[in-house]
This record gives sequence, C-alpha cells and structure tokens, in this order.
Amino acid sequence: MTGSSTAPGRLEQVRTFLNTWRVPHETRTATDDLPELISDPQRWRSGFPDIPPPQPNEIGELLDLRTDLRAALGNPAPAELVSWFASHPVVVAVGDDAEPIRYLARDAGTAAALLAKVAVALADHRWARLKSCPDCRNVFYDHSRNHSRTWCSMYAETPDGRACGSIAKVRNYRNRQRGNRE
Ligand SMILES: [Zn+2]
Repeated sequence: MTGSSTAPGRLEQVRTFLNTWRVPHETRTATDDLPELISDPQRWRSGFPDIPPPQPNEIGELLDLRTDLRAALGNPAPAELVSWFASHPVVVAVGDDAEPIRYLARDAGTAAALLAKVAVALADHRWARLKSCPDCRNVFYDHSRNHSRTWCSMYAETPDGRACGSIAKVRNYRNRQRGNRE
C-alpha cells in the first residue's frame, strides 16, 4: 500500500479538503477549487459525505482553516490548531465496539465537522502521516512502515497522477552530472 496516497476512513475527506488548494503540474500555478466547490452542493456532498456543505459566510473561515491545517501537517501535536479547537470544541461520546469513543463537533458548521475528524486523527496518531509533497504541495497519506515517505508519489498512480519523487531524482541526477562536469 506504500504507493497509495489515500487516507484511511473519514480522514480522506480532510485530505480532499486540503487538496482543494493545489499546484497542477501542467501550469505550476496555485489553483483554488474551494470557491467553486462551495457553490455546488451536489459536488460537495460527493466529496464530503460526512461534512455539511458550508454557508456562503463560512468561506473565509474555511480558507483560514485550510491554511492552518496545511501548516500543521506532519506534526503530531500542532500548535496551529489550539485556537481552532478552542473556538470549535470537539466533544467525546461513547460509541460501540468498533469505535468506543466518538469525537463529535459541538457546533453544526463545516469547520467544526472537519476539526472533529482531525481530532480523531490526532488521537490515533494518524494525523502526522498526512504530509504535503515538498515539490507539488499535494497532500498524501504516508502508509510506509517507518513514516519515511517524502514525495507525494514515486510513481504516477493514475493517468493524471504525479510522480514528484521520480522527477526529483532525475533533477538531482542531472544536477550531479552538471556538477561533475564543472
Ligand atoms: Zn508531489
């Protein structure tokens, strides 16, 4: 599974949210899909089945949340999230055998629902496995045993998939070659 970027369970919806800001390989220009996504509730529901679609006045907050969540990637105890959990508290409830403790958003907004999922990932130590590729900034889930994956994908997974690790290797190789000649 080390080749896959997909996060387990509902954390995948958080990953999808973080990747609404992206830098496509073709253009290398940052693109923001969030405004369009917010105006299309049907598309929102297919990408985020467990997260209520945001109201127009929540957009600014979601953009800030996305920035802070991205800054918190790879960090098992991110300080960036302290004030978010203070303003959108997550409460615990007793669940069932499969999920003994549930983390629930106390308010009904979109940010709160996302933060409840982040809380689960922090509690079960999966959060730090979400990483942003240093090259294309794509957020991926590190399935590797020793949490050592750096690039979003060593090999393209899909026809439009990325292969930043391979690209970086080629670039380093070329730079070395150039260095040897000089
Ligand atoms: Zn990448």
